[in-house]
Amino acid sequence: MSVEPERSRALDGTTKQLLWDRMISGKQTISTYVVVLDGGTVETLELTAAQAEGFECLTCKAQCSNGAGAFQPVGRIPSVGSVFQCIACLGGAR
Ligand SMILES: [Zn+2]
Repeated sequence: MSVEPERSRALDGTTKQLLWDRMISGKQTISTYVVVLDGGTVETLELTAAQAEGFECLTCKAQCSNGAGAFQPVGRIPSVGSVFQCIACLGGAR
């Protein structure tokens, strides 16, 4: 949980992050979705739009990144898209 100290050089990255954050914060409306999980289980879940569209982890709402924050598809929402969980939530953290 350390914060990278060299953010000043990555202006492009910072701008992208800002746009990303804005996009994510615009997708915090919670709705009920019918999720078809891999394996065929169908669950009705209350998710933010960001979760439903695959931008946030289905379980902890972490955004996709590297390492334990990397995502794996776990199912899909018909007519919306795939849903993901981060590696940490999948129990595969190394
Ligand atoms: Zn997660």
